[in-house]
Amino acid sequence: MPGLQKILNGVIRFRQTVRKDLVKQFEQILSVTTEPAALELAVKRGKINHVIVCGHSDCKAINTLYNLHKCPKSFDAESPMDHWLRRHGFNSIKKLEKRLADKTAGPIEFVSDNPLFSFQAIIDPEDKLNVEDKLSQINTLQQLENVASHGFLKEFLESQTVDLHAMWFDIYTGEMHMFSKPNNRFVLVDESNVEELIDEVDKHQT
Ligand SMILES: [Zn+2]
Repeated sequence: MPGLQKILNGVIRFRQTVRKDLVKQFEQILSVTTEPAALELAVKRGKINHVIVCGHSDCKAINTLYNLHKCPKSFDAESPMDHWLRRHGFNSIKKLEKRLADKTAGPIEFVSDNPLFSFQAIIDPEDKLNVEDKLSQINTLQQLENVASHGFLKEFLESQTVDLHAMWFDIYTGEMHMFSKPNNRFVLVDESNVEELIDEVDKHQT
């Protein structure tokens, strides 16, 4: 089932061309706030075969969610975003707490209404990410769980007409990560593993 190869090859082309310059630009504007980018949620449409939920580092919405969790008094009743985050961020916060309480970074269960699309994820096993970025990766996978639960997608998912994938972009290093179900974790997409990842996609493993 073609489609995702183009994206993964595009990631490689991006690595080999503009990534370094982009990183330089980010380094120059680090003192300025970065634009919060919306969490992408692609939904089934027409003949789209691959739905990718793409999260990113230093996400302002995720940072706010974490801040609301640590400091409930900062909740602003006038803020639609605060309301939205409090309502929809709960599951991700619960999973973050589980991850933070477990120094061995054991797998976290993502349980879909459809058991075919339940999975486990090991989050940041090397403990490289700050807590907000851990939450961001968890929330990206939480959206995958949520997408898989949509009734209207059921037949497309079960017939493997549509595959779901999660990616996570580190905006400061310009590195793309892809969630590998066989590996139960996000893996850096690079020249050494892109063929393997394409193979996982072809075999509907991701
Ligand atoms: Zn964001």
